Amino acid sequence: HVKNGGKNDALIFDLNMQKELDRTSSLQKSMRDSLENGDFCIHLQGKYNQQKTLIGAEALVRWEHPEYGFISPLKLIGIAEEINLIVPVGNFVLHQACTILKAWQSKNNTKHLTLAVNLSAQQIWQEDFTDNIIGIIEQYKLDHSKLILEITESVLLRDMNDAVKKLLILKNYGLYLSLDDFGTGYSSLSYLKSLPIDEIKIDKSFVNDIIDDSQAKMMVKSIVDLGNNFNLNIVSEGVETEKQFNALIPYNIDVYQGFYFSKPLDLASFEQLLIESYS
Ligand code: C2E
Ligand code: MG
Ligand code: MG
Ligand code: MG
Repeated sequence: HVKNGGKNDALIFDLNMQKELDRTSSLQKSMRDSLENGDFCIHLQGKYNQQKTLIGAEALVRWEHPEYGFISPLKLIGIAEEINLIVPVGNFVLHQACTILKAWQSKNNTKHLTLAVNLSAQQIWQEDFTDNIIGIIEQYKLDHSKLILEITESVLLRDMNDAVKKLLILKNYGLYLSLDDFGTGYSSLSYLKSLPIDEIKIDKSFVNDIIDDSQAKMMVKSIVDLGNNFNLNIVSEGVETEKQFNALIPYNIDVYQGFYFSKPLDLASFEQLLIESYS
């Protein structure tokens, strides 16, 4: 092929850019309708203990767009934040989670299960954040100690005192707070002593590299030590293989999540998993 100074490449790049911009703008326009039309749902990924027993799940939002198919949660959360729909999206997920938890708690063999939802920093920054969360949960008359809120360090980027104050309200109300993607944030470690969290989740990037990368191994060890010193529960996310799970065993991590144990499943498939696990 004859090169033409990259002119075609530039053209193709422009076209792809334009396509992506069009898609984003179309997604922005249809998000509110999609939320109301039932094109949003949640999938559940199991959480397991050291004995590989299922002990709970994490709710992960899904948007099945009529034209574009499944939109990745990071993309859809980004869009929701841009167009001020993050609160309705977050509320949708919380309502779904409460409905599921309520159903689990109505049966003896599933009432011990925990359920985690992810919160975006922008939700937490809202003035009425804690009232909104507690108001929704109160509608369901749950044992809400089984509800886990997963936050990331990005929540601290704006007003650290405000974030701590709000999280403390939720913690005192009885919710369980988890710090997601730990080790990837930009914050200094000093916030750990003031943040009222119960748990840290080791980011999957470290777990992924634990076999071949001695640095990743040291990160896992350091995070586990830190978590133990602060008396925090420790979760490992992104466990994909038996080899990785075996490499994690010496660190005595409390909870495991990842494709090795279970992929995120739609609600019917997760129900099936529960039946298999508890019958
Ligand atoms: P996250 O909370 O850290 O969730 C874990 C992500 O890793 C999920 O991706 C999950 O499908 C994926 N995962 C689980 N096990 C494995 C594994 O073994 N290997 C690999 N490579 N990946 C694994 P997903 O569902 O695409 O979500 C991505 C991120 O989007 C989440 O990361 C979370 O930050 C955000 N997110 C998802 N649902 C929500 C939501 O309802 N609200 C908010 N605010 N954010 C959400
Ligand atoms: Mg999470
Ligand atoms: Mg995570
Ligand atoms: Mg992550």
